[in-house]
Amino acid sequence: MVPRKRSAPKLISFIIPLYNEEEVIPELRARLTKAVSRLPCPSEFVLVSDGSSDRTLEILEAWAESEPRAKVLGLSRNFGQQAAITAGLDFCRGDAVIVMDGDLQDPPELAEPMIDYYTKGYDVVYGKRTSREGESLFKRLSASVFYRFMRTFIHRELPTDVGEFRLMSRRVVDAMSSIRESHRFIRGLVTWLGFNQISVPFERQVRPAGVTKFPLRKMIRFAIDAVIS
Ligand code: UDP
Ligand code: MG
Repeated sequence: MVPRKRSAPKLISFIIPLYNEEEVIPELRARLTKAVSRLPCPSEFVLVSDGSSDRTLEILEAWAESEPRAKVLGLSRNFGQQAAITAGLDFCRGDAVIVMDGDLQDPPELAEPMIDYYTKGYDVVYGKRTSREGESLFKRLSASVFYRFMRTFIHRELPTDVGEFRLMSRRVVDAMSSIRESHRFIRGLVTWLGFNQISVPFERQVRPAGVTKFPLRKMIRFAIDAVIS
């Protein structure tokens, strides 16, 4: 398919999974608010608390009370980032969505060039990490082995150095929700779906606060789901 020019989305939905992220939410809110003020369209924030046991849900609810474009989903327990994103995708109303980590390792300022590519006709615009600042040697090594395996055996086209940070058009979101896998590997499914895809490079920053919510146990489960899904 050749990308065909179109106008900016009427509404852009930001889908942000958050698990015990109470320390970063104030900064997330500030950065996001500033970033969307430069966009050519209105936005909604779909903030998904993935069964947080700290004050995340409470802080998100206070945020949503002070501005109608912020919406909160509270999952009943910790289901994992992939399930939290799926809940957000099912709920959101935008004709384009941006999935983004809540810890500011995915810079919200990238929304602007992502939407630019959307207007050029791309249906998937993913953020590609040019550096993995502050990530441990173990994490970089395990990611490299994982991606080599996945590209050899599962998804030949799976882009490397790409997480969940991406814009998707409404038709991709609808196609995604027609695949009802409960153990999902979203980045693989999006690759598998096809559509016009392009990347925008960004430098992955260190978290301003908090620690990773992916201990080894979760990384292994994630890898298993990735292979099976
Ligand atoms: N996250 C989540 N549920 C989980 C684990 C993580 O919703 O069970 C969220 C987390 O709050 C963050 C995003 O997913 O917004 C990415 O997680 P994290 O930053 O811990 O992963 P890393 O960047 O270390 O790979
Ligand atoms: Mg992170």
